[in-house]
Amino acid sequence: HGDFNQKIDYVFKVVLIGDSAVGKSQLLARFARNEFSLDSKATIGVEFQTKTLAIDHKTVKAQIWDTAGQERLRVDYGFSEGKGKAKGKLIDLAEDDATTRYIRNITGQVYYTFLCYVPSFLAKPTSRLVKTPACQFCRYRAVTSAYYRGAVGAMLVYDMTKRQSFDHMARWLEELRGHADKNIVIMLIGNKCDLGSLRAVPTEDAQEFAERENLCFMETSALEATNVESAFMTVLKEIYHITS
Ligand code: GDP
Ligand code: MG
Repeated sequence: HGDFNQKIDYVFKVVLIGDSAVGKSQLLARFARNEFSLDSKATIGVEFQTKTLAIDHKTVKAQIWDTAGQERLRVDYGFSEGKGKAKGKLIDLAEDDATTRYIRNITGQVYYTFLCYVPSFLAKPTSRLVKTPACQFCRYRAVTSAYYRGAVGAMLVYDMTKRQSFDHMARWLEELRGHADKNIVIMLIGNKCDLGSLRAVPTEDAQEFAERENLCFMETSALEATNVESAFMTVLKEIYHITS
């Protein structure tokens, strides 16, 4: 049987990053299994998928890591001071990032709990914050370094119909460069190009950003399978040329 004795020459770890719902998991499903789902659930638990392919007569195993939801961090901070009104802003967030705000009573004290789902880099705790037992901020830090460890490639994904997801690219890049190897190959991806009439990010804006930051750039559609194979293969070949 062909697969049984297959010799792997290289294993390349590639990470997917970007705001929630931009299509990271569907890009991976399309690349690894040629599948797509319109009602994809938020990724839970799955750490990576692999695809074995040939580059230059060598067998390369691409190990593509998908975020298990840590791109949207649940911030659950208690705030014990103040009477009747939480003083100041707990976290530097836009109003619309907050999904719930409620008051909880723990051991007689009034706690103002600010519960929201936000891109992880927006969650900057301040000295005024009191951590609740459910706080996931500390856990997130540990997950982050494990996620980037050993990565030789990264797909930085935004949704071309959502300007904010593109505006966040600089922050994701900053986080990536803070954690990953300095020779990491990075591809900027504008996904959902099948929704052309809803475009909110001109190709030129993305191209300019990619050139300035020295990234590869492609527009893709996981739904229509446009440029997905090509985007992953470009990154893998580039990694191959650097490594071999
Ligand atoms: P993630 O949170 O970044 O992993 O995003 P998902 O892969 O879960 O996708 C979020 C939503 O966008 C799902 O409803 C997908 O079906 C949809 N989606 C993903 N890729 C595309 C695409 O290329 N075109 C369109 N039209 N929808 C997409
Ligand atoms: Mg996902």
